[in-house]
Amino acid sequence: MRAGVETAEEIVARCREVVEDLSFQTVREWKAQHPKARVVGCYPVYSPVELIHAAGILPVGIFGGGNQIEIAHADARFQSFVCSIVKSTLELGLTGRLDFLDGILFHSICDPARNLASVFQRNFPSLHVDYIHFPQNLASPLAEVYLTQEYRRVLRGLEKIGGQPVTEEALVQAISTMNRWRSLVRELYTLRALQPHLLPAAELYPVIRAGTVLPVQEHIRLLEIFLEGVRRREGKPKDRIRVLVEGSFCEQPPIDLIACLEEAGCYVLDDDFLLGWRWFLEDVPIDGDPVQALARAYIHRSVYSPTKHDLRRRKSDHLLEKVRTLGADAVVVLIPKFCEPALFDYPLYRRALEEARVPHLFVEYEEKMWIFDRVRTEVETFVESLLFD
Ligand code: SF4
Repeated sequence: MRAGVETAEEIVARCREVVEDLSFQTVREWKAQHPKARVVGCYPVYSPVELIHAAGILPVGIFGGGNQIEIAHADARFQSFVCSIVKSTLELGLTGRLDFLDGILFHSICDPARNLASVFQRNFPSLHVDYIHFPQNLASPLAEVYLTQEYRRVLRGLEKIGGQPVTEEALVQAISTMNRWRSLVRELYTLRALQPHLLPAAELYPVIRAGTVLPVQEHIRLLEIFLEGVRRREGKPKDRIRVLVEGSFCEQPPIDLIACLEEAGCYVLDDDFLLGWRWFLEDVPIDGDPVQALARAYIHRSVYSPTKHDLRRRKSDHLLEKVRTLGADAVVVLIPKFCEPALFDYPLYRRALEEARVPHLFVEYEEKMWIFDRVRTEVETFVESLLFD
């Protein structure tokens, strides 16, 4: 990232450049400056990036190709009714755009992601491909034991890539650093929930997403400057409705679609973009066994998600609690086409929202969308129906 970026607006512009650069120039430059260093990709939703950091490896978020890539090769490996991110991620690989990766992690979030891991293994035999099996029953007392063991297995693979054993000290340091990163992100989300007119989602999103590409210490400094810049902003709220956006936890919506929601009359108080990178509700403890602490935090201190099966509390209850806590007027359910986990949860959310008399709007998108007229009209109509009811 070039030096001298200072204002919040400059940071937004530069971060947008970073996240829309499908050649991952920033990562390539970093690797050229650190010839012995390794890079591991993280497919959404959640990766324990602390394990990667502790192995001395740079974790990089791999979120598909957005609306800037033609699917020319990946279609032959997947059915037509599969979400876009699966195909565009493979397309990135098949066109050499991910050739800087030494490894990539996938997880048990859905069948398409499971298949993508196997397709990567077959098509890129020299790449370290690992698949993390998260526990299916979080209410089980054995879930923590199981996940700790699973993380230790993943760690052994990362040690091979990093070429050195991972120490407990390195793990604690990595947890501590990521705690700092997530606390800054939480501060930004809190600020935005209280004063959404000062921090549009279309600005916050690229700034945080740049943190999935840049080295974490560099991004922490950037977030600190950005936070200060946003705090200095002034302005009055406009006549808009205050919404939560739910459903975009894996395949990410185009930034212009997020901007379109706001321009059509919404203030976004909260969203689930990049959810896995913001996974924990509070700091992960740094006393005790760090691997176990990460596993425990996954089970007891993490956000709800359609890709997590937690029978201890209904996801719709979490959503309603968020609506009430933040004082939202409505929910925009923004779901990528063919996303099974999101679409399975939608009927449950819809029933709960209707029973609680919380208005909601269902919007389906694809990462490759670049015309938003229809969505804009739908959102404008929804906003007017609430403002002038
Ligand atoms: S967008 Fe949905 S269906 Fe596609 S990989 Fe992600 S969670 Fe799975």
